[in-house]
Amino acid sequence: MKGKRVFIRVDFNVPLKRDGENTVVADDIRIRAALPTLRWVMDREGLCIVATHLGRPDGNRVDKYSAEPIADRLSELLQMEVIFSHDTVGDGPKSLSHQLRPNQVLMLENLRFLPGEEANSVDFSNRLLDLCDVYVSDAFGTLHRAHASTFGLPKLVRDKAVGFLVQKELQHLVPLRDSPKRPFILIMGGAKVSDKIGILEHFMPLVDKILIGGAMAYSFLKAQGHEVGKSLCDDKQVALASRIIEKASTRGVSLLLPVDHRVVPRLENPEDILNTSNADIPSDWMGVDIGAKTLAVYKQALRGAETIFWNGPMGVFETPAFAQGTFELAKAIGNTNAQKIAGGGDVAAAIHQSGSESRFDFISTGGGATLEFLEGKDLPGLKALEVS
Ligand code: AMP
Repeated sequence: MKGKRVFIRVDFNVPLKRDGENTVVADDIRIRAALPTLRWVMDREGLCIVATHLGRPDGNRVDKYSAEPIADRLSELLQMEVIFSHDTVGDGPKSLSHQLRPNQVLMLENLRFLPGEEANSVDFSNRLLDLCDVYVSDAFGTLHRAHASTFGLPKLVRDKAVGFLVQKELQHLVPLRDSPKRPFILIMGGAKVSDKIGILEHFMPLVDKILIGGAMAYSFLKAQGHEVGKSLCDDKQVALASRIIEKASTRGVSLLLPVDHRVVPRLENPEDILNTSNADIPSDWMGVDIGAKTLAVYKQALRGAETIFWNGPMGVFETPAFAQGTFELAKAIGNTNAQKIAGGGDVAAAIHQSGSESRFDFISTGGGATLEFLEGKDLPGLKALEVS
């Protein structure tokens, strides 16, 4: 490491807010989470060059997505000078990288300000290569993207590694993917069945029970002939849901669906919330959460589990009146003795809001990356680190 320029690809895609005249970081959890890797490199006299994406500027320089406020926060956290390069690549950052001293960090402007990043252009990867001697991948949430900074660049670098954040993800997700302790319960919610289908298929031979909630439950209920009223239900996914129900039954996996729901006439009228008496939703109503009976059934189903993996909320938990099912389930999972792992941004937020974060063994920072990894897909960002 000594004297080497170490390019650390981090995920500092953090929320920003206005503070008087300035824009500042609103939540620095992701920045703090990367500090052990940076400190490890600096303790060995390596020179840290930190790069992230922020938002979706789509290859353009968009002021509100500048990484500069992040560099300021990083400097405060490290109590060290963080030099900010207004250019992501080119002569400016190149000469800054060569002038860097051990008690300084160089942070680059948002990688996505240039179209070459998301297009994984060879030219852009080579320009990033100008800035580095060693590559460290510490942005788990972006490993499923074959972008220049996550895929093109590490392929070009000889000395490369994962950072501590990615290492921790792999330490928890590899055993879960390959050999979860049984009984293993998979809990899936959220809105998009298509995003979760790969996981359901991968885990079908390894799982004992599948509990389904959220809007995706309506596709399954519709497949069974239930009424779903005005609920968010993607009709294109009903056939797929039907096949999963069949597969589970063939394999002897118990697949549980809501037996009642919390419903409202309109999302804008949370005060009109009712609990249905069964799995059907009246025609002018929409489901926004699992019902009380379902919650009791799901809590009961968790008993005796050795492993629980949870992805996707049980309802529209962003509205407090519709959050009960998700929060109560988070607490119930937290109270089991199982190995408890959750993944996906929404569930991470819900677990945090329910106050049960410390009860979980691991909450993955990835959304799509976690799901793809658990499906058994190769992640480009990990593939690129293999040394041939
Ligand atoms: P996903 O990205 O597939 O995990 O979906 C997460 C989103 O699903 C959250 O924003 C929830 O508000 C939403 N969601 C969960 N349950 C429902 C529901 N019953 N109706 C509408 N949206 C829902």
